[in-house]
Amino acid sequence: MTAGIKKRIYFDHSATTRVLPEVEEAMVPFLTEKWGNPSSLHAFGREAKIAVEESRKNLAMLLNCDPTEIIFTSGGTESDNLAIKGVAMYKGKMKGHIITTKMEHHAVLEPCEWLKRFGFDVTILPVSQDGLIDAGEVERAIKNDTILISIMMANNEIGTIQPYKEIGSIARDRNIPFHTDAVQAIGKIPLDVKADNIDLLSLSGHKFHGPKGIGALYVRKGTKIEPIIQGGGQERGLRSSTENVSGIVGIGKAAELARRDLEHTSQRMKVLRDRIIKSVPELVPRSYVNGHKTRRLVNNAHFRFDFIEGEGLILQLDFKGIAASTGSACSTGALEPSHVLLAMGLTHEQAHGSLRVTLGRENTEEEVDYLLEVLPGVVSKLREISPFNEKRPMSPGEGGSCVQ
Ligand SMILES: *Cc1c(COP(=O)(O)O)cnc(C)c1O
Repeated sequence: MTAGIKKRIYFDHSATTRVLPEVEEAMVPFLTEKWGNPSSLHAFGREAKIAVEESRKNLAMLLNCDPTEIIFTSGGTESDNLAIKGVAMYKGKMKGHIITTKMEHHAVLEPCEWLKRFGFDVTILPVSQDGLIDAGEVERAIKNDTILISIMMANNEIGTIQPYKEIGSIARDRNIPFHTDAVQAIGKIPLDVKADNIDLLSLSGHKFHGPKGIGALYVRKGTKIEPIIQGGGQERGLRSSTENVSGIVGIGKAAELARRDLEHTSQRMKVLRDRIIKSVPELVPRSYVNGHKTRRLVNNAHFRFDFIEGEGLILQLDFKGIAASTGSACSTGALEPSHVLLAMGLTHEQAHGSLRVTLGRENTEEEVDYLLEVLPGVVSKLREISPFNEKRPMSPGEGGSCVQ
């Protein structure tokens, strides 16, 4: 731990979350004495199989579906890939039209881009300034050969909750499969895939206090889908490979806790979130809230600050013991502004000068006090040295540096 910092505070729950002690406790036996292969017929195998099916029931209860409609995968990314490629490639048809949006996670956008190379037609819908999709626009984008609508439930960067119920009923009326990436929604939005007309739903263990490397895809009975990983035929032939038993047990426990505690924990996070959203613009001059005012996840607060470079902000906050994130990511050594913020119409500078604070069920009032105490000073200190500061015009070659 860094000298001088009493405690590290974690405000980056959209990136990942801590495995809860109850989850760990449930998993450990399946890493030690209960190491059977669920496909084996003997007692070792049966013990593992029972645990896998128990977990499947927990996920089914969380989503209000049948346990047979849950397919375990290696995470949110694989679930998104399976949903999109699996539907698109059904029976080797290799053609059709897909509707998605500019706000999606790369795990949705990249498979769609990839499918384009094989002749698929993809419509990528724009979003409003506050990051919302217009359900009417989804309806107008439908063509005769539309085979899939893939629109996320809630955005991982700015927390916008999309009109997924409206989109679900539009898709149902037209008999088009509707996939939603609900990775960020679990534990924050009550889910009901039946009532909401969802055909495919992706989730990921590590985003709701389960382990990393485990996820699931809900596949409504009757949905026409091909596997993308072939082999021994596990998971009803939709996802071969020997099951990640400890991971499956972990995500099942996490699902049980998410469902049990949803009301209490979301209320708690909302109170803290509202305080942060209200206080930051009061405490920091020239700061603005990004995203939708009301249609947003209970744990998401997102800001932008004039004359601030996000990487510097994150490093300074980290130095003070606070973990948060910004609206740009370092990929291949270049500073890329977030495609989500750009889609909302922010400039590169605005996207770079942004801060994402994402709360978890374990954050406290005192931690929020500390953030609000530290942030104004950090921002004003950075502004004094900022190349973007209007008092100090940027010289050629300055700025845009990237800290890996
Ligand atoms: C994290 C995330 C993913 C990817 O999940 P992994 O389990 O890390 O592969 C996909 N979609 C959204 C919205 C996410 O936040």
